Amino acid sequence: MATNPSSTSTAASNTPATPIIIAEKIGKTYRTGKLEVPALREVSFAVNPGEFVAIVGPSGSGKSTLFYLLGGLTSPTSGSLTIDGADFSRLSDLERTRLRRAKIGFIFQRFNLLPTLSAMGNIEIAHDIANLGAKERSAFDRDLLTKLTDLLNISERLDHRPNELSGGEQQRVAIARALITRPSIVLADEPTGNLDTKNSDAVLKMLVRSNRELGQTTLMITHNPEAAAIAGRILHMRDGEIVRIETGAGRFGSATGVPQATAGEGISAV
Ligand code: ADP
Repeated sequence: MATNPSSTSTAASNTPATPIIIAEKIGKTYRTGKLEVPALREVSFAVNPGEFVAIVGPSGSGKSTLFYLLGGLTSPTSGSLTIDGADFSRLSDLERTRLRRAKIGFIFQRFNLLPTLSAMGNIEIAHDIANLGAKERSAFDRDLLTKLTDLLNISERLDHRPNELSGGEQQRVAIARALITRPSIVLADEPTGNLDTKNSDAVLKMLVRSNRELGQTTLMITHNPEAAAIAGRILHMRDGEIVRIETGAGRFGSATGVPQATAGEGISAV
C-alpha cells in the first residue's frame, strides 16, 4: 500500500509535477452505535493537475466515501489528504467548507438543479455561493459564461427552468454551474447515470473538453465501462481499497481536436 507521490511526472517534460491530490493511507470508518464499518482502508494515490480520472467499483466499495473526503464534505479517520496544497485531514469544518467552495466543483447523477430558478439562475447562484464568506467578492465571469454555454451548447436554453429542459440539457447546465467558479478540481458522481446513450455521450464529450480546455482536474465515479474509458486513468475499488489502476482508452481522444491527456502518468501505485 506504500506510495510515493513525488515520483509522478508529466509525459511532456519528464520533470516532477506537484500532484493536486495526495492521499496517503486515508481511512474512513463509520461508527453507528457499537458497529464500525470500515468504508476506506489505507487508500493511497496521487493525481496530477489536469488529469481526468475515473473511479469504478461495485456498490459498497467506498467510491462515494472517497468523493466525500476529496470534496471536503467529511474528514478521514486516519491518514492525510492534501488537496491543492491544503491538508484537508487537519482542517476545521469551517476551513474545509471555505476551501470546498473555492476549489471544488460538484456534478451529480440527479443534476440537483434548483427547480424554481432558470438555467441561468442556477449558474449564477453557484457563483454567489462560492463567494459566501470570501474576503473579496469576485465578479461574475461573463466571458467564462459565454465560453461554457457555447461549449456545452446551452446558450439558447438559459431562460428555461429545469423542468423545461431534457435530462441531457439539465446535466450540461449542471456542468456549467460546477465550472463557473473555475474550480481546480471537478468531482462528478455518476454524471451519466440518468441519461440515455446519446445524451450520455454528449455529456462525456463535454466533460472531456472542459477538462482539457479549462485545465481543471476531473474525477468521475461511474458504473459504466464506456464512460470510464474516456479517462486517462481508471481506479478500480473493492472493499474500501484501490485494487487496480488502469490506463483509460481515451475514447474521445482525437475527436475533440485537442491533444490527449497524459495517459499513463500522474497516479502513483497503491
Ligand atoms: P459506494 O459508493 O462504492 O457504493 P460507499 O462509500 O457508499 O460505497 O460505502 C462504502 C461502505 O461504507 C459500505 O459498506 C456502506 O454501507 C458504508 N457506509 C457508507 N456510508 C455510511 C454511513 N453514513 N454510515 C455507516 N456506513 C456507511
